[in-house]
Amino acid sequence: MLRTVFLRTFPRVYRVSACRSLTIPAPNSQPDVHYNKIFINNEWHDAVSKKTFPTINPATGEVICHVAEGDKVDVDKAVEAAKNAFKLGSPWRRMDASQRGLLLNRLADCIERDSAYLAELETLDNGKPYAISYSVDVPMVVKCFRYFAGWADKWHGMTIPVDGDYFCYTRHEPVGVCGQIIPWNFPLLMQAWKLGPALATGNTVVMKPAEQTPLTALYVANLIQEVGFPAGVVNIVPGMGPTAGAAIASHMDVDKVAFTGSTDVGQLIQQASANSNLKKVTLELGGKSPNIILSDADMENAVEQSHLGLFFNQGQCCCAGSRTFVQESVYKEFMERSVEKAKKRVVGDPFDLKTEHGPQVDDKQFQKILGYIGSGKREGAKLMCGGGAAADRGYFIQPTIFGDVQDNMTIAREEIFGPVMQILKFKSLEEVIERANDSKYGLAAAVFTKDLDKANYISSGLRAGTVWVNCYNVFATQAPFGGYKASGIGRELGQYVLDNYTEVKTVITKVPQKNS
Ligand code: NAP
Ligand code: MG
Repeated sequence: MLRTVFLRTFPRVYRVSACRSLTIPAPNSQPDVHYNKIFINNEWHDAVSKKTFPTINPATGEVICHVAEGDKVDVDKAVEAAKNAFKLGSPWRRMDASQRGLLLNRLADCIERDSAYLAELETLDNGKPYAISYSVDVPMVVKCFRYFAGWADKWHGMTIPVDGDYFCYTRHEPVGVCGQIIPWNFPLLMQAWKLGPALATGNTVVMKPAEQTPLTALYVANLIQEVGFPAGVVNIVPGMGPTAGAAIASHMDVDKVAFTGSTDVGQLIQQASANSNLKKVTLELGGKSPNIILSDADMENAVEQSHLGLFFNQGQCCCAGSRTFVQESVYKEFMERSVEKAKKRVVGDPFDLKTEHGPQVDDKQFQKILGYIGSGKREGAKLMCGGGAAADRGYFIQPTIFGDVQDNMTIAREEIFGPVMQILKFKSLEEVIERANDSKYGLAAAVFTKDLDKANYISSGLRAGTVWVNCYNVFATQAPFGGYKASGIGRELGQYVLDNYTEVKTVITKVPQKNS
């Protein structure tokens, strides 16, 4: 049976096309799991230790299946495979760039073919609503692979007019073996953001998915093999951060590491690089992003976008607009309308197509978020709605809003990574820019106003990697994303990411001035 879901409630940018509706096949809430081992050299392996770990359905707390738990020895095997696949003269190194692009496009085709199954598996493992997995995550993954497929034979160097009788040109060469450590909030999409540019530019990869959500990454490994990537080009080692993840970060034969996750672990990755072989490091870390509503804003749009900017993906977004600054004269109206909207948000079974909001990813995140809600109450913020668990089982939390939040409160300073909105009052533009920038983070920000001068003034004053004006959470594969300050190093997506996956080689050749 096919059902049509109107995507009124989802951010406009996430619509798959310009049309206002998308047909979503009724999901199977118990998809079979086909792959639960370690993927090295296009083969499936148990962990050398034979250890496994359970992956949990966050909507019920039940075990879905057990997955092979790779650690240092398995990472060593994977790095060896990736090193061999990268050897000069290997099938991968000899492959035409256009062929690399073709393989990435074929991978996108297979993901599109299996999109309903992949969306089911993503929802089962992560808890995000199926309507979102199917209509937002998977289409963005397909677009990402297609975008980087296009770059494969277009990322070229320059010829440079150096002084003297020399011919000088640059080559953009792959860095080598890339370690990629990804989080659980967008498992498929984070995999695509990492694999797309790495493979387009000819690198080989050892990837560790998050322990909470390994299943879709492993299914994609199977597709990588199906479309014909040579053995060893992509290796995927599920396992724990402090063992498998740390082994990647400190490996002497890993040439680059790309990490997305918490700022604390990002610091460990940078240290591990410094203490091993100075591998290149790119980091996409946390945030405490300011979302600024000026008194002249289109209030309906500001309320809608701020709601999605915070509650989308159960608040589990690095760029969540978790410090909502509202100008004094519209504070009351914005608060009332935001609370009304949050109360109406449909929380429940992620396989129900009406559901907008599923569970948090695991018990640890669930407890951590409830802890932050407790601190908000203790430190004197005003609880306007929500504030507790939303079901008897699973890790559901009610959409929660705090008013009268002060800059020094814990909930205004630390990343909550859950459905908890902080609303703060401000008077002047200068004041709000200063307060917005008073954070160790600098990932994203937004401003809502009808006045172009004010929008430009504020967006140029904010220290953040992305500034949205009159919108939120607009992601495009073509546009770079990343953070200032403790929100990261380097940029993902767009042309900018390609720099992080290539070494520039300068070649200078003596040109004889007469034919002898
Ligand atoms: P995390 O520990 O930073 O996890 C991200 C990835 O890093 C996972 O694959 C993780 O493995 C791995 N990892 C953990 N410790 C490591 C180590 N010592 N060396 C190498 N890799 C390591 O994040 P989390 O514990 O899942 O979540 C904690 C907080 O991080 C959240 O509350 C949120 O604030 C933030 N976070 C941010 C993002 C983002 O998109 N920027 C995403 C997720 C979480 P394991 O799966 O074994 O932990
Ligand atoms: Mg962790």
